[in-house]
Amino acid sequence: MSSTSSTSPDGPASPVIDIQGLELRFPGESGPVTVIDKVDLTIGTGEILGLVGESGCGKSMLARSIMRLIPVSARVTGGRVLFEGQDLLTIDESEMRRIRGNRIAIILQEPMTSLNPVFTVGNQITEVLSTHQPGLKPEERKKRAIEMMERIGIQFPAHRFSQYPHELSGGIRQRVMIAIALIGGNVGLLVADEPTTALDVTIQAQILELFVRLQAEQRMALLLITHDLSVVAQTAHRVAVMYAGRLVEIADVISLFENPLHPYTLGLMNSLPRPGDRPRKSHMDAIPGTVPNLANLPPGCQFFDRCEHRRDEPCLNTMPQLEETADGHWVRCHRWRDIQPSSSAMVTT
Ligand code: SF4
Repeated sequence: MSSTSSTSPDGPASPVIDIQGLELRFPGESGPVTVIDKVDLTIGTGEILGLVGESGCGKSMLARSIMRLIPVSARVTGGRVLFEGQDLLTIDESEMRRIRGNRIAIILQEPMTSLNPVFTVGNQITEVLSTHQPGLKPEERKKRAIEMMERIGIQFPAHRFSQYPHELSGGIRQRVMIAIALIGGNVGLLVADEPTTALDVTIQAQILELFVRLQAEQRMALLLITHDLSVVAQTAHRVAVMYAGRLVEIADVISLFENPLHPYTLGLMNSLPRPGDRPRKSHMDAIPGTVPNLANLPPGCQFFDRCEHRRDEPCLNTMPQLEETADGHWVRCHRWRDIQPSSSAMVTT
């Protein structure tokens, strides 16, 4: 392995989305709190990028920043989000509305809270067409909605079209959310924020298969956000690991699983279930402690308090920078050369 002098992660040669130095802050009692800290990330055409980390690491805020759907109290204080040559952070809201749901779409974790309970599934899918293709006649909108429902594996789509969300199972509701996300146009980037977390394991696998199939058919970029490394192991081409608002490791999926370098990535891997585990382990029990309070971060490495490889020098007072350890494999750790996985992770889900 060789380290280089580059300072930001390389991605695909012609990215669909190019996030540069993104910084997001919330107001705090003692001043602004940085929840996304100078994140650089790219996703290429036809690429699935898995973004992993525990709750509170900034993954969802990163997704919402791309979509410009951040809470009103939050502020983007730096960076650019380039999509098809435009900086999504600076275009006017009407242009952003045109892009959102048409060229970029988002799917959220819990379909029951994203779907409107008082409208039928058909209403909610065709509403997207009304917004993005207003010239379509109602019967054509209905026809396209039913075709889309069929394409994403909803059985009896004409019947489902007239049903309300509460009449559907969690898996079908999530398929409806996918139909809503994709029907608006030629989606170039799909952001899926914990899209399978609320589903049972069998349905999870079916929905992940559906994502992979749709992504390949449409050659779209997919940003798949999850706290569960086993989900990205099954689907992603590249993986970015986020901790306390910063990216700490980025690599193609094989390199990451064969040669994880950041202690946090190792902790996530060691928390994966292995054959013989009984009962299934809690996901995060291999990592002691919790994500630090972002309003009161340590001066050096943010993982310091939880890291079994820490040393006072240099970890305590010097923030590690992202460093390229091999082609396309980046890590933010002073001691990555000394760290070897204690045992290889096995993914069984
Ligand atoms: S820099 Fe030090 S404390 Fe931080 S992850 Fe690496 S070894 Fe652990």
